[in-house]
Amino acid sequence: MTVSSIYSRYIPATVPKNGPNSFEWLFIFNTTQILIKDELGKLSIPTSEDLNGQKLEYENKQYLGELDGYPCYCMEVTDKVDAPQGMVFTELRALLGQLESDIFLLAGRAFQIVNCNRMNKFCGKCGTRTVTQQNELAKRCPSCGSVFYPRISPAVIVAVVRGDKILLAHNKNFRQNWYSVIAGFVEPGETFEDCVVREVMEEVGIKVKNVSYFGSQPWPFPDSLMIGFIAEYESGEIIVDGEEIDAADWYGFDNLPQRPVSTSIAGRLIDAVILNWNREKRD
Ligand SMILES: [Zn+2]
Repeated sequence: MTVSSIYSRYIPATVPKNGPNSFEWLFIFNTTQILIKDELGKLSIPTSEDLNGQKLEYENKQYLGELDGYPCYCMEVTDKVDAPQGMVFTELRALLGQLESDIFLLAGRAFQIVNCNRMNKFCGKCGTRTVTQQNELAKRCPSCGSVFYPRISPAVIVAVVRGDKILLAHNKNFRQNWYSVIAGFVEPGETFEDCVVREVMEEVGIKVKNVSYFGSQPWPFPDSLMIGFIAEYESGEIIVDGEEIDAADWYGFDNLPQRPVSTSIAGRLIDAVILNWNREKRD
């Protein structure tokens, strides 16, 4: 499988190498939303040229590195700031699949840096106001030396396969008749594979084996990283936990319920299982 990397066009850095540039990518956030340029439904990240002449009151303009040779910054504004003409503040999550995938990844990165700055204004250990580290992505306490990094919360997501069926579950927070694969946060002291075994057992009472890595996807809502796996059914009958999951079943190719689309790793996992079935049928 060929893996495309954002680093073919993006160079991360915390301090700009060059002086001011007339063209900058600007990832601008109010409390919950990101500023987006909307040209007849074509969405993009605004640049300094788009803002030309329009002053935005902001705090914490922070350098993110270079995209396609141009500097990127994240900026924080208050909710009182109105979106300039032709732009709109929108939920980051609504942009998944709407923005080019590299740009979406960068927007998520920017969002997590802005959140890190907000959450770590003061040292959690001694209460002193923190400063931004120059050489790495972090805040540092000048008094006790504690360093605070952007929080990343790893969560596993797993397609459990039993012959030509896949396990799909309905989470209480999902809309009706909409099913997905099992997911859950990694706990201290756990490997990803252990987490897969525990989560599937806890949520649906099934024992799995042959847990194999599939891929990953940053999920910046607000700070998750989804790590995808495919696992095989070993034993047990489905017993939903009733807490998170209120329904689950084995689904075949011809009776799949409504499910995630392939812009999410959940959708890609399900697509990969279906593709495998099709291959096996052909062989
Ligand atoms: Zn401190």
